[in-house]
Amino acid sequence: MSPDTLLSPPLSASTQVFDAPLFDEHVMPTYGRFPLALVRGEGCRVWDAEGREYLDFVAGIATCTLGHAHPKLIQTVTQQIQTLHHVSNLYYIPAQGQLAQWLTQHSCADQVFFCNSGAEANEGAIKLARKYAHTVRQIQNPIIVTAQASFHGRTLATVTATGQPKYQRHFDPLVPGFHYVPFNDFEGLEAAIAHLNHPDPQVAAILLEPLQGEGGVKPGDSTYFQKVRALCDRLGILLILDEVQVGVGRTGTLWGYEQLGIEPDIFTSAKGLAGGIPIGAVLSKAFCSIFQPGDHASTFGGNPLACAAALTVCQTLETENLIFQAQQRGHQLRSGLQNLQQKYPDLIADVRGWGLINGLELKANCSLTAIDIVKGAMEVGLLLVPAGSKVVRLVPPLVVTASDIDWALQRLAQTFTQLVGETCAS
Ligand SMILES: *Cc1c(COP(=O)(O)O)cnc(C)c1O
Repeated sequence: MSPDTLLSPPLSASTQVFDAPLFDEHVMPTYGRFPLALVRGEGCRVWDAEGREYLDFVAGIATCTLGHAHPKLIQTVTQQIQTLHHVSNLYYIPAQGQLAQWLTQHSCADQVFFCNSGAEANEGAIKLARKYAHTVRQIQNPIIVTAQASFHGRTLATVTATGQPKYQRHFDPLVPGFHYVPFNDFEGLEAAIAHLNHPDPQVAAILLEPLQGEGGVKPGDSTYFQKVRALCDRLGILLILDEVQVGVGRTGTLWGYEQLGIEPDIFTSAKGLAGGIPIGAVLSKAFCSIFQPGDHASTFGGNPLACAAALTVCQTLETENLIFQAQQRGHQLRSGLQNLQQKYPDLIADVRGWGLINGLELKANCSLTAIDIVKGAMEVGLLLVPAGSKVVRLVPPLVVTASDIDWALQRLAQTFTQLVGETCAS
């Protein structure tokens, strides 16, 4: 069976539609998929195999920064694949250099390593921090402290870094050298580090998300992060920020750390960086940028296609003023969600987020789950994604318009009206 059969475009009502049982027969069931096959997109809209239209407030989970079929991204990727799409890092790759230059000119970092995903970027950051601990600080068994409810990826080291047991079950033995603390709790962190560093310093790095995405759209507290920064400076600990979900303009600033008034020593990027073309990046300040030839590598990492795409995304953020847009549309979305919360106080416990990463938390005593809301919204043409069992996440493309936001808010209101009364405790 050729892959074409699985994802046939919606030609007409009479043509064959998507065959889910065939898909399930051949693809490992690692995902709890919704019964929906998306086959085409334009801007913030996507269409399923039967031709139904949806407003996309998922954007491939905060990945399609420029939405779907953006003319600039089409042009860049088309041109690059016609010219040269992949060569090895045995050679200089000009687009990789240009992208690294853009990123370092627009962040606190001095150098970049490119890979293909968020997990791989975090792996790179973990390796860099361990090398720094071993070679600069002479730490024998370096420990990286991460937060409970964090998410850093699915490889063995990053799933270990992830402070959520549900992702680790059945995959032990996990990677040694990680320790978890509660997020946004400075006293807890300070006590844990004092303990771990006794009698000899062991803590190499603290790895945190500026805003916990998968963990329920929980923004970092700036006072907390400023204290963490000062603690790291005092003890020589590296501060690594996982910007995989929040970076590249989504929060209304280019990087999430700008929301917190601090600079990390190392940070990682991936999801939105090339707008949906696979890429990951480890970005580091000069003093800890200590990889040497042979230390780390990736076959696809930083290839001409991915780097050209990312450079176009970054330049388009500037030319289309999308970071400012993310702020404006974010305000509009949050105030609409707050109105909804006032209308349904028994259902909605909290509305929070930065820019265009927002969460709507359901009341703990309400039997509705995030999945119920996501399914209900899907039925009225709005795509949303859960972040844990009680939080609905809204992460539209940064090109989302004011009328798209209004439309989404109407559909959400409709969804709540339909679901209310069904299942809520008072
Ligand atoms: C998605 C995500 C990752 C993992 O990225 P992959 O590209 O799926 O490997 C890591 N950290 C954060 C914060 C993420 O949101």
